[in-house]
Amino acid sequence: MKYLTEFRDPGLTRKLVQKIENMADKEITIMEVCGTHTMAIFKSGLRQLLPHQIRLISGPGCPVCVTPQSYIDTAIQLTERQDVIITAFGDMLRVPGTEGSLMAQKSKGRDVRMVYSPLDVVQLAAENPQKEVIFLAVGFETTAPTIALSVEQAKKANINNYSILQSIKTMPNTMEELVREEDIQIDGFLCPGHVSAVIGVKPYRFLSEKYSLPAVIAGFEPTDIIMGIYHILDMLDKKESQVRNEYTRLVTEDGNLKALEMIERVFEETASVWRGLGSIEGTGLRLRQDYESYDTVKKLGIQAAPEQPAKGCICGEILKGKVSPLDCRLFSTKCTPETPVGACMVSEEGTCAAYYRYKPNH
Ligand code: SF4
Repeated sequence: MKYLTEFRDPGLTRKLVQKIENMADKEITIMEVCGTHTMAIFKSGLRQLLPHQIRLISGPGCPVCVTPQSYIDTAIQLTERQDVIITAFGDMLRVPGTEGSLMAQKSKGRDVRMVYSPLDVVQLAAENPQKEVIFLAVGFETTAPTIALSVEQAKKANINNYSILQSIKTMPNTMEELVREEDIQIDGFLCPGHVSAVIGVKPYRFLSEKYSLPAVIAGFEPTDIIMGIYHILDMLDKKESQVRNEYTRLVTEDGNLKALEMIERVFEETASVWRGLGSIEGTGLRLRQDYESYDTVKKLGIQAAPEQPAKGCICGEILKGKVSPLDCRLFSTKCTPETPVGACMVSEEGTCAAYYRYKPNH
């Protein structure tokens, strides 16, 4: 399989690891800002291959994990209404709210449905005109274009019983927020591959230009990731800071213009609340005025639930890379993938779920 096997080349990976070993003369902390990278790193055993001086920390790159508890609580409250159908991607159903989860609501007979695409939800709305059909719009720049398309399609087809509960987040300003936090030491970033395929390279330039930090956009195969780490060390070694694109088979300088246009037509930038990070200006997307009638909160005139973090859960600190799941006293005891206490244990891309599954010792 061309374009795949060459990125799983053990010989090349070993050579790169050797080079990394030669360069790693002090502790280097690299944050990967993508849940898929986190999973790929664990799955391929890269942490064990790398010298101990290379500290990999996971950032807020799992969409389910960064969605605040108040959002889940609001969605759960909505399920109590007889006139709504709640739809969401599968992982969202299992995230615990303050009391219960959407899955628990479903088992009580509330109308909660798992979907694969918001476009299917528009169809569902067309088939259920007597109900308000709500999609839980959670995700990053990667899912935003399809959500935008669903809203445009609903408007074009005059389907007025479709709306979205908004919690779409964007990455670059969030990374800047992490860089600004005084007690987080980050020496370089592995930029999120999927998000980069949409937004391109340019939005990360501030990392090198403003903060002199090296950053690499990398793919998800083991050689991709090792190559990304190697490039970060190479830049640190040469005292250079750049944003290097090692995922050129998918990521371009300007990104996916069609997808970006789609986002731009329907959404505008806004502040967004992140689990553990609070509200950060310029890290969310909200519907533009022309599409406001598709905003669940405005349409139904509901009050968002207050934020009440799960007791004992330190997901927020984990998402900032400050601590590891092994520092959580609930990890693997009270909190497991079968009985998740916090969102980081729910999604396959969550750091706690990855630690539970692959059992690293640091
Ligand atoms: Fe939260 Fe569970 Fe992770 Fe602890 S192990 S931080 S309770 S998700």
